[in-house]
Amino acid sequence: MSELSNDLILFNELVEVLLNEEALNPVAKRIDAAALYSTIDLSLNNSAMVDGAFKEVLKEVLIATPKTATSLFFNQLFGGRQSKAVLGDLLAVLLNNSMYTYKVAGPQVGIEQEIIRKSCEMIGYGSKSNGTFPTGGSMSNYMALIMARDAKDSDCRHSGVTKPLVMYTSKESHYSNAKNASFAGIGRKNVRYIDTDSRGKMIPSQLETQIKIDIQDGFTPIFVNATAGTTVLGAFDPIDEIATIAEKYNIWLHVDGAYCGSVMFSKTKKHLLKGVERSDSFSYNAHKMIGTPLTCSVILVNDKKQLHDSFSNEADYLYQTDGDDFNLGKTSFQCGRRNDALKFWTLWKSVGTNGLERIVNTQFELADVARNYVANHPDYTLYSFEDSISVCFNYKGINPKTLCTLLYEHQITVVGFGAFNEEEFIRLVTINATNSSKDILNFFKVLEQFVEENASVLEAVC
Ligand SMILES: *Cc1c(COP(=O)(O)O)cnc(C)c1O
Repeated sequence: MSELSNDLILFNELVEVLLNEEALNPVAKRIDAAALYSTIDLSLNNSAMVDGAFKEVLKEVLIATPKTATSLFFNQLFGGRQSKAVLGDLLAVLLNNSMYTYKVAGPQVGIEQEIIRKSCEMIGYGSKSNGTFPTGGSMSNYMALIMARDAKDSDCRHSGVTKPLVMYTSKESHYSNAKNASFAGIGRKNVRYIDTDSRGKMIPSQLETQIKIDIQDGFTPIFVNATAGTTVLGAFDPIDEIATIAEKYNIWLHVDGAYCGSVMFSKTKKHLLKGVERSDSFSYNAHKMIGTPLTCSVILVNDKKQLHDSFSNEADYLYQTDGDDFNLGKTSFQCGRRNDALKFWTLWKSVGTNGLERIVNTQFELADVARNYVANHPDYTLYSFEDSISVCFNYKGINPKTLCTLLYEHQITVVGFGAFNEEEFIRLVTINATNSSKDILNFFKVLEQFVEENASVLEAVC
């Protein structure tokens, strides 16, 4: 038997261990960071490890690693496990292609392009559109910013930034915008954070006021970032109104849909993206709402020339056959690039677009269950709104940071906290579409039970 066949037998054995563990202990037993190296033997040594010991240490690592696929993980903007996507990712690892050329990726190029083509069609981009799979939502935002910069001043690519550039995003937008401004030579100080309304959406009139001030002051506005699903509240900026302003001042409009751009798959929720077809670029993370393994991020551009202009570079040693449409390295940030498309394609192919719609709709239904529960129980205070899969609340006035940390340390459930307008709260994200209403109600049950049983601990720390 080949070494790989043997290792796949071991793999299956480890999968059983993991699945069993997830069922028995949905929240992994936490190892104190200070005790990590003395608890599991992570050391790398000169001598080889014998097979039996190797298997044991792998099991230890699996058991101790936080469980993100279980029904008690609500901490981040991902969770659960879509089996057909896992299958696709396992195959991608075995195939081990790099996506830069048709010569080494073959049909995988078509798989990536089909996802991009279909996505462009669904958001209403025209025949000149295209896109790529960056390393994540932060990188998608960065690529959009670079295209915006180059679109305004094509000489920038050769001579560097020569004008005082400014960009716009809301106060509730993702922190990558600040980092990206620094990477792009714009500078963190030249990011204008536009106020949001009481529901966390950018206020378009404030955007226009700020643009006018900046033009007056001699700045060159290059980029507006609208967010489709803000990181804390899951709010959708009014894209249509923002597009009117971006068009008026000839500024690149990017829609950051890393968190909730996947509402494009839902007939009942895609109105939240109204106006997205007027944007210059749009990104979404399939590893968030769609539930593929990390990472699976897509950026779409209305005019593929912009992507090519900013990211292509001649490289004769690389591009030896086939046309640009098949040599995806001409429109990517990286050179060698792992295949993030196959896992999304295997899922999409197997469940159809209707299946993706169900995945998205389920998350909103679960959020309704959670929001209704919070709204109807007087011990809770609700801070979030409809049309969002982030349900933000406090329980019995308990400090949310304290409660979240204790729930995690006691292996009860893994959930995070956030803040909006000076208020801090627990943020429950119903992004795991494999959960049922029962799982959501169970979350509240275990939380309440914990508070009841630990009243004295909570009093002591609060
Ligand atoms: C998650 C998120 C990002 C960053 O995506 P990564 O893939 O984690 O880099 C950007 N914007 C928003 C709104 C997000 O929720």
